[in-house]
Amino acid sequence: MSVATAEVPIAEPVKSFVSTTRKMLINGKWVEAASGKTFPTFNPATGDVLANIPDGQKEDIDRAVKAARAAFDKGPWRKITPSERGRLIWKLADLMEPHLEEFAQLESLDNGKPVTVARAADVPLAIDLFRYMAGWATKIEGNTIPISVPYTPGAQYHAYTLREPVGVVGQIIPWNFPLLMAAWKLGPALAAGCTIVLKPAEQTPLSALLLGELMCEAGLPDGVVNIITGYGETAGAALAAHPDVDKVAFTGSTEVGKLILNAAASNLKKVSLELGGKSPSLVLQDADLNAGIPGVASAIFFNHGQCCCAGSRLYVEKGIFDNVISGVVEQAKKIKVGPGMDPATDMGPLVSDEQQQRVLGYLESGVSEGAKAVVGGGRLGDKGYFVEPTVLVNTTPTMKVIQEEIFGPVVCAEPFTDLDEVITQANNSIYGLAAAIWTKDLSKAHRIAAQLQAGTVWINCHNIFDAALPFGGYKQSGWGREMGHDALELYTEVKAVCARL
Ligand code: ADP
Repeated sequence: MSVATAEVPIAEPVKSFVSTTRKMLINGKWVEAASGKTFPTFNPATGDVLANIPDGQKEDIDRAVKAARAAFDKGPWRKITPSERGRLIWKLADLMEPHLEEFAQLESLDNGKPVTVARAADVPLAIDLFRYMAGWATKIEGNTIPISVPYTPGAQYHAYTLREPVGVVGQIIPWNFPLLMAAWKLGPALAAGCTIVLKPAEQTPLSALLLGELMCEAGLPDGVVNIITGYGETAGAALAAHPDVDKVAFTGSTEVGKLILNAAASNLKKVSLELGGKSPSLVLQDADLNAGIPGVASAIFFNHGQCCCAGSRLYVEKGIFDNVISGVVEQAKKIKVGPGMDPATDMGPLVSDEQQQRVLGYLESGVSEGAKAVVGGGRLGDKGYFVEPTVLVNTTPTMKVIQEEIFGPVVCAEPFTDLDEVITQANNSIYGLAAAIWTKDLSKAHRIAAQLQAGTVWINCHNIFDAALPFGGYKQSGWGREMGHDALELYTEVKAVCARL
């Protein structure tokens, strides 16, 4: 791997966006935190302060929930037609297009990811998600149901269901795809007619705040979307526990997901969770390795391994193991690591000092338990939060690096000889978010897909997302599915109406 250096110039609107102390959005107004406090976000490529952000806390969450409650119970949002809701969401998507470069640069500066990736993936996917969900606003339907009611012989009924918005929704999102995660959460909630308090991750709040400006410009009524920036233990915890919030939707670590669940128990608010993963990639002897080798490498190295569905366990059929590993090592060596704002960069820094320490800690733990790094294995440079793309071999099923989510550019590779055994091994995880199979035998691939305990199974591909394709986890990877029409179920209640005729 080599270090890239030449950075693209920061666009003027981005410079001015980051150099002004930001405000939060409550009831259509941009406001400071009630305490007046702010906190810094950092540029992960340098470790320097990037911007100052309001330190929203419980009092601010209270203000935002009150606004969302009023917008839901009394405000225009409840009365607005589904068609008008759809048009507003579509308009937001249209307003995002001319700001694509600004969004991409903010993502790169705040999160560390390559600006080229944010331009090609994060921002267009977010825009597309809003357009997809705009279409659903007019298609959320109930059913008519023929009922028999045996204990009222002779009586006739007209019975049907309504799908209604769940109410005020708290949405807590992570830092790995800041804008896209905001879109995944906001799109279906708005389509369903909910009102929202969104809390972006403290590491990466900037793109959500720019999105908030465009929501105001699109004409979303006051209080429909409120954005509170702040830390998880304060703002996030207050939102998850709030008695006037009807539902909390969370994406982040399994550990914090459990805290959210406990906090939500106070008023039994509905909960959806998109949590961690330890996703296996299975490479069979007959796989097309020209596609498979770069495929399994990008499965782990895309977004620096900071994807909940990263292909972090690589199982390769024994006869091709050495060939595949040397291919993946070659791929790792070719990766240009550098600041996200350099157009030549393939892989940026990790998001924070804390994440860098966490990933380096896992590398140490793996090596101390007997694993060997055949490429990478440490920190890169002495400035910023860079970690080398790493391939670990000689791992065993009980090691921490195999059991736990590393959330960095580290893949553990093991050979296998028996297909049934490797499927058992692939399923031997507390997680069940995603899995990938590489083979030319599609019949075999579909049979394996049916046996894998994962919310998504990719065949001869990895990290393929679409607004129409549901995403979520089995086991401790979460509850519920985001995207696709399944996402609407997270934001609607079913009401059965039964009339005696
Ligand atoms: P990661 O471990 O990947 O940083 P986290 O799960 O800690 O991710 O964070 C994801 C989101 O959850 C962030 O917005 C963070 O502020 C929030 N968060 C962290 N701790 C809590 C908590 N105790 N209650 C509610 N939200 C939290």
